[in-house]
Formats: sequence, C-alpha cells, structure tokens
Amino acid sequence: MAIEITAAISTFKAALGIAQVALAARDEAKVKEALQDMSERLFSLSQAALAMAEKNMALQAALTEASANHAEVEAKLAERGSYELAEASSGVFAYKSLDSSKALHYLCQPCYDNGIKSVLRKDAHHDGVVFWTCPAEGRHGF
Ligand SMILES: [Zn+2]
Repeated sequence: MAIEITAAISTFKAALGIAQVALAARDEAKVKEALQDMSERLFSLSQAALAMAEKNMALQAALTEASANHAEVEAKLAERGSYELAEASSGVFAYKSLDSSKALHYLCQPCYDNGIKSVLRKDAHHDGVVFWTCPAEGRHGF
C-alpha cells in the first residue's frame, strides 16, 4: 500500500517535471499533453491515497482489538499472580489466594488451568478427615 502511493507520487513528480520543461520551452502542445498526463497521475494518486486511508482504518480497528485483547491478557496475568500453587491439605494441591484483602481461599487447580475460577469448598468427615470439593466440576473432589 505504501509502495503504491510512493510510486504514484513519483510518477506525478515526473509528469510535473515534464510540464515544467514544456512550460519553460513555451511549447503549448507539450504543455497540454503534460497537463493531461498530470491529471491522470493525480487521479492515480487520489486512488492510492484513498486505498491507503481504507487500509489505515482497517489497521486502526485491528489495533483497537489487539489492545483490548492485550488488556484482557494483562488482567488475567495480574490475577494469576495473586494465586500460587500450594498444598491446601495433605496431598491436595490448589491455587492459594495471596491477596490479603480477600478471605483466604483455594481455587481448583484443574479448573483454573482451564480458565475456570472455581473456589474449592472445604468439608470434614465426622472422623475429622478434611476433603475439598469443586463446585464447577464434581469429579474434582480431593
Ligand atoms: Zn474443578
């Protein structure tokens, strides 16, 4: 696209140079011919500029979308940084919350690795054995 407009500018400049030479030589026929040529080159230049403007708009839209995606990824990354894999109870690993402004909780590791934020529920059997259940996926019991 940039090459097209560069080429269009270059050919327009060449046509302008021919017109200036013809004008200096006071050759009316050549001046008319050069003006016609310049008019055609100007049309090509306008077309190239228009195409470039359209491409520019498409790029702007793509940039806006990419920026939004980037912000989303950054937010997820920041959230991910507020958890660390830890042993919730003997042999049970889950993502432990590190943010002290929130109540301590654990996220189900397989769910969180799949992008689902599921806070594990802690229960205890009558014999005192602690177990964890995942509200999002029943088979993720520990
Ligand atoms: Zn789960």
